[in-house]
Amino acid sequence: MTHRSRLQIAITFILGIAATELSAQRPKAADLIARAAHAMGGAAALDSLRNKTVEFNTVVYAVGQEETHLSPARATFSFGRTLTDYAGVRQMGTTESRAVTGATARLRRVTLSTMSMVETNGALQMDGPNVSLGLGRAQSLQIEQIVRAAVHHGSGWPVLAPRTLRGELADGVQMLLGPDTVSVWFDRTSALPLASEIVTEDGVFGDRRTTTWYTRWQDAGGVKLPRQIDVDYNGRPQTHTVLTSAAVNQPIEQAQFAIPDSMVARAPRPPAAPPALTVTLVSLSPGIWRAEGGTHHSLVVEQGTGLLLVEGPQSAARTAAVLDTLRSRFSGRPVTGVVMTHHHHDHSGGIRAYQARGIRVIAHHRNVDFVKGIAAARKTKAPDALSRGRPAPPAVGVRDSLVLGSGAGRVVLYPMASAHVEGLLGVWVPSAGAVFTSDVVNPAANQPLPRLGSSELVAFARAVGIAPAKYVGGHGTLVDWPALEAAAR
Ligand SMILES: [Zn+2]
Repeated sequence: MTHRSRLQIAITFILGIAATELSAQRPKAADLIARAAHAMGGAAALDSLRNKTVEFNTVVYAVGQEETHLSPARATFSFGRTLTDYAGVRQMGTTESRAVTGATARLRRVTLSTMSMVETNGALQMDGPNVSLGLGRAQSLQIEQIVRAAVHHGSGWPVLAPRTLRGELADGVQMLLGPDTVSVWFDRTSALPLASEIVTEDGVFGDRRTTTWYTRWQDAGGVKLPRQIDVDYNGRPQTHTVLTSAAVNQPIEQAQFAIPDSMVARAPRPPAAPPALTVTLVSLSPGIWRAEGGTHHSLVVEQGTGLLLVEGPQSAARTAAVLDTLRSRFSGRPVTGVVMTHHHHDHSGGIRAYQARGIRVIAHHRNVDFVKGIAAARKTKAPDALSRGRPAPPAVGVRDSLVLGSGAGRVVLYPMASAHVEGLLGVWVPSAGAVFTSDVVNPAANQPLPRLGSSELVAFARAVGIAPAKYVGGHGTLVDWPALEAAAR
């Protein structure tokens, strides 16, 4: 026997032992769940959990709205109190927060399973139907409810391969809870839940892994609850919450769930089906349109036998709706490119769906890596041509300026300075006398134009030496340029 084959046998033997040990050590899902329930106060205590009152400090990071795609996200700070009534499927919360402008907002929200009302600085308003429709699911995803449901499920759920969390191996169980597939990880020492994870489809992240971390478990009156809860998206902080107090099964004062009759009458009825995405073409000048629909708009420019688009906002569904509209209006004309004004996720969520159709993306040079990252993102929840191996078209970066097309279809792209975001493009369409960009100014009917954004647009026109007649944005109404100049003064 050669030295080498002896070594191979030894390795096989070692690996064999290791594998045997691993499978012997791999715990059963039911045991992990039972141990966690016991550590949290016992299955009976979880079953008798009727309500939970917490006081909290929280920061919410605006992931997807950073200054550059690699900048830390900006946080909003708030504090408040939430009463979650599991038995009655309702919730009441008060929060006080300060916006980036320094303005204080005091909110009180009463959410029932049928309707939801919010009071903002004393003014009452009914929420859209999604708030009450989402309540049951949100309650079922609280960790104490996840574990309670898991105890009753039995042992059929798969155990995940152990994973290193906080520097130690943790065991995980993959659970099916209503519409959600939730992976829950348990600490080997305390048996308590460490983290839970849900993977959902996202226009920019592809597979967005939402991880909720549970830290500092303390007794809340018969049931242990985590006193620190952190949520991240693919490792990026989204919220950080500290519970300054937590108590379960407190007597409930019914009056705090009251919604006045005058407000009940205004409750919106949930739609029978989600509204269809419709896109309308509004002519700006010969060969130039704004593709409008909902909150976000794109610019369409006829260039020879093709079409250039500016903005691929929101989602793949929005991209499909825009392309459907263009197909029926301009049969056979291909889209030759899509310009992204900036990286904010609501303005880039539809970009990947263009890339998947082989359509190139033109962006500020700072955002070329971001655009490549969208195309490279792992996407198993909503796989597309790129996830099946189709190469993405190369991303084009704009440094000083870039001219696309000629004649009436000529478009010039320039980097533009704005406090809204670093890495913004301003789009000049000479034949329409129009400047297009997004979020610098969002004109609303009968509202004054903001001074900051107006002066940024005026300074942009002066810097690149153009004399626009109008501003066309990714949101809001069209405005004549003199109105911006007046607002900038
Ligand atoms: Zn933006």
